[in-house]
Amino acid sequence: MESVHDGQCGLCTHFGEGHKTDVLVSIRTKHEADLKVLDECGHPRHAALHLKVTPISGCDGFVPAAAA
Ligand code: SF4
Repeated sequence: MESVHDGQCGLCTHFGEGHKTDVLVSIRTKHEADLKVLDECGHPRHAALHLKVTPISGCDGFVPAAAA
């Protein structure tokens, strides 16, 4: 497990947007993640591209996820 910090996909509302799983909730709650996790970014500017990101990826479109 690796730490996930503010600004990184694992704590972004767009990470896996639309299919909130136990894994995603766990990352948001514990601020740590298995780096093998890969999920789609739902940001409007990435969604059409089906961008896949890891919990420690990031971009300027970061929006903090609501508390789990
Ligand atoms: S790529 Fe950017 S918008 Fe998408 S989940 Fe990561 S931080 Fe959020």
